[in-house]
Amino acid sequence: MLSCKEATRLMSQKMDSKLPALERLSLTFHLLICHGCRSFGSQLRFMRKAVRCIADGSETPGQDAVVGDQKPVIPPPP
Ligand SMILES: [Zn+2]
Repeated sequence: MLSCKEATRLMSQKMDSKLPALERLSLTFHLLICHGCRSFGSQLRFMRKAVRCIADGSETPGQDAVVGDQKPVIPPPP
């Protein structure tokens, strides 16, 4: 079982590169049971989108990038 510290590290890593299958599975399982890390993931995605919008010179990140409670996103099986 991943710790929250490991899970957040993997979430950050996942943004930049594809995770190995075992780490991806461990992270998915952790996110199913950990509300804090799910929230962190939502915020991380929002921040990345916001930074990208600012870098592109567009206005706001958009309606779909809402920070807060969201259903866990379970990636499709490989
Ligand atoms: Zn956690």
